[in-house]
Amino acid sequence: MSIRIFIFIVFSFSVSIISAQEINKFEQLGSLLPTPNDTRSASGAPGHAYWQNRADYVMDIHLDDLKQTISGKETITYHNQSPDPLQYLWLQLDQNNQSPDADGYSTSTGKLGERISASTIARYEHNLDRGFNIEKITSASGDSLSYTINKTMMRVDLPQAIAPGATYSFKVEWNYNINNRIKEGGRSGYEYFTSDSNYLYAIAQFYPRMCVYDDINGWQHKQFLGSGEFTVPFGNYDVRITVPGDHAIAATGVLQNSKDVLTKTQQDRFNKAKSSYTTPVLIITPEEALEKESQRSTDEKTWNFKATNVRDFAWASSRKFIWDAIAVKQSASPDVMAMSMYPKEGNPLWEKYSTKVIAHTLRWYSHYTFDFPYPVAWSVHTDRIGMEYPMIAFNGGRPAADGTYSNGAKYGMIGVIIHEVGHNYFPMIINSDERKWAWMDEGLNTFIQYLAEQQWERDFPSGRGAAFNIVNYMKGDQATLDPIMSTSDNIRNLGSNAYGKPATALNILRETVMGRELFDKAFKEYAMRWKFKHPSPADFFRTMEDASAVDLDWFWRGWFFSTEACDIQLAEIKWQRADMPQDTTMMTSDEKFLDEYPQGMTSLLNREDIVQTQDEIDTTLRDKYTDVDSKKTAKENYENYVKNLTPEEKAVIEKGDNYYSLTFKNVGGLVMPIIIKFVYDDGTEQINRIPAEIWRYNNEEVSKVFITDKIVKQFILDPYLETADIDRSNNYFPAQQQMTRFELFQQQNQGRGSRNQPPPTPTPPPPLPGKS
Ligand SMILES: [Zn+2]
Repeated sequence: MSIRIFIFIVFSFSVSIISAQEINKFEQLGSLLPTPNDTRSASGAPGHAYWQNRADYVMDIHLDDLKQTISGKETITYHNQSPDPLQYLWLQLDQNNQSPDADGYSTSTGKLGERISASTIARYEHNLDRGFNIEKITSASGDSLSYTINKTMMRVDLPQAIAPGATYSFKVEWNYNINNRIKEGGRSGYEYFTSDSNYLYAIAQFYPRMCVYDDINGWQHKQFLGSGEFTVPFGNYDVRITVPGDHAIAATGVLQNSKDVLTKTQQDRFNKAKSSYTTPVLIITPEEALEKESQRSTDEKTWNFKATNVRDFAWASSRKFIWDAIAVKQSASPDVMAMSMYPKEGNPLWEKYSTKVIAHTLRWYSHYTFDFPYPVAWSVHTDRIGMEYPMIAFNGGRPAADGTYSNGAKYGMIGVIIHEVGHNYFPMIINSDERKWAWMDEGLNTFIQYLAEQQWERDFPSGRGAAFNIVNYMKGDQATLDPIMSTSDNIRNLGSNAYGKPATALNILRETVMGRELFDKAFKEYAMRWKFKHPSPADFFRTMEDASAVDLDWFWRGWFFSTEACDIQLAEIKWQRADMPQDTTMMTSDEKFLDEYPQGMTSLLNREDIVQTQDEIDTTLRDKYTDVDSKKTAKENYENYVKNLTPEEKAVIEKGDNYYSLTFKNVGGLVMPIIIKFVYDDGTEQINRIPAEIWRYNNEEVSKVFITDKIVKQFILDPYLETADIDRSNNYFPAQQQMTRFELFQQQNQGRGSRNQPPPTPTPPPPLPGKS
C-alpha cells in the first residue's frame, strides 16, 4: 500500500555521533565460549563423560578459649574420579592469607587519608603470627609424606600416583593462632566482647582442604589473595569439635550427640522446635546465655557433626550464644531446621527476624531452584561480616548498644541473612568456581536475594537487583569498569561488578527480555542440571538459551563480556497523516485546492510546473511510460488520483490515522529492547515493547513507524526504568525536566558493614512493568 498524499509535521532534535563498531552485536559468541565437549555439552548440561572428584574428611578439632588457638587432626580421603592419574595433591591453606608475608597484604594498595582507624593501622602492620603451622602429614598407615607449601597452597607428594577411580587417604595435623576478626579482618576469626570478657568464634577455612581438580583447570590452585573466594570439592564430613563445656556450637551438618552436649531441657526444646513452623522455639534462652557469660567452665565438651555431600565445613562457638529454631516445611522433601545463634548484643533484631528470615529464604530460593537438600540451615550473628558456608552463614546486623536500630540496620540485617543463607544454593550446592568467577555465585545469588526481599515485604529497600540501582556504576568512566567476565581477583568494584550488575542483568532478562515463564523455567533447569556439580559460565549461558529458545548471545556479549551501558536516545520524531478533503466537489478553483496544502506539496499536485516541451527531450522511450496527463489541472489530477485508489487505500485516507516515525540512537553501545510509552492527547497511554533484535541490521541507529488513531502528546523511552538507561534526559519527547537527587552522607557505624552488602538505598523500586 502506498500513501502519496501527506501532511508533514516534522520535529527533530540534535544527533550525537556514535563511533563505528567492529562486530555485529548479534553475532554468536563463538570463540568467546569454550568448545563443547564430552564433559560439558553444547546444551549447557553436564556431558555424558562429566566427572568430578570428591574429598571426605574426618576431623578432630580443639579450640583453646584461653589462648585463642585452634588445632586439628584430619584424615582426608580423596576420590580420584577423573580419567587422569594424580601424582600429587594440592591443598588450600587459606589461613596463610593472614600471615605477615601474605601476598594478599603485600600486594594491597592504599594511600593515607586525613583520618586513620586503629583497625586500619593493624591491617597495615599485619605482623601477627596467624598462618597455619603444619605439624605433620602422613599416609593413613603413618608414613610421612613430603609436602611443599607455596603461600596459600600446599602440594602433597604421593609415593605413587592415584589411578583413575582409586581413592587415597592421608592425615594432616595443624594448628594456628586465631585472628581477631574485628581488628585484623578476615572472614574467619573471633570477636572479643570487652563488657563481659568473652569471645565469639566464627571459624571457617580453618583446615587444610582439597583443591578442585577438574576438566577445566586441572588443579584450581590460584592463590588466595583475599578477594576471589573458594573453589572446593564435595564430600562427606565427620567432625568432632572440643570446646569449653559452657559453649554452644553451630556448625555445618547435623549434631550427632545432643545427649552429650545439651541438657535434657535443651533437648526437649529442640524436639518441640521440630514441629513449630511459625514461631521460633528458644533452645538456649537469653537469660540462660546471660548467666553463662559470667561463668568459665573448666571442663570441655566434644560436639560431633556429620554432613553429607557438602563442599566445606564451618562452625561458630561461644558461651554467649542464644539459640532458637523453627521447622520449615518443603513440598516434596523432609523438613529443614532453620536455626539462629546470636549473642545478646544482636537483640532485639535477632530474636525478631533471623530465624524467620532463614525460613523465608529457603522457601523462596527453593521456589526458583529446588527443595533445600540439607537438614539444617543456620544464621549466626557475627558483627560486620556476611559470609556463607554449607548449612551455616555468618551474618552482621547489630542494633546500637541501647537496643535501638535504624530502618537501615533492620533491612540491612534481613538482606544480609537472605543473601548469605541464599548462598547455600549458589555456590554451596550449585558449586561454581568462586576463585575464578565471582559473579557465578554472587550475581546469581544477589538476583534471587532481590526476589526474596521483594517477597518479604513490598517495596523492601533492596540495594541491588532493580535496573535503576546499577545506573551509577554503569555510567562511570569506562577506564574504571571491568566486564563481569573478569577473574574475581582482578575486579576493581566487586560489589557492583560481581553482585549488582549480574543481578540486574538477570532481572532484566526475566522481566524485559525473556518474560518470567521462559526465564524461570530455564533458570530452574540450570539449577537442576548443576545441583551438586561444578558449572562454568558457558554452562549457564547455554542452558538459559537451551531451555527457552531465546538467542541471548547478544545479551551475554553486551552485559557480561563488555562494559557498555544502555543509553538509547529518542533522536527524531516525524508525525505524518494521510489526509484528504471530505468533499472535493466543494473546490471552486485549483488555487483554493492548493491552498489546503502546505508548501512542498504543490510539486506533487501541480504537474504543470514540471512540464517540458517535446523537442527538449527524447520521447522514444518515455512516451511509453507516461501515464499522467501533465496538462491537466491539479484538481483533475487529484480527482484522478482518488479515483484510482483501491478501496483499501481510500479507507486508509478516510481513517485519518497518525503515522509516527521514531528514530532511536544507541548512544551507550549496549543493544537493548526498546520500550516506549505513548501518552495520547486524550489522556490514555500505550506501551510498545520492541525486542533488542530491532538493532540487528544497524547496532547504532534504527527507525520505526507506529500507526495510531490518536494524537501522541508525549513519548517516553523506558518509562518503568527497566533497562538501566544511564541518561534519561534523552528519553522524552517533548523533553522533560529531570529531577536529580543528592544524598546527605552519614557515616554508618552500626548495624552492618558486611563485605557483601552496601547500605540499602532509600529509593523505592519502580513499579514492575505490566507483564506477568
Ligand atoms: Zn555473597
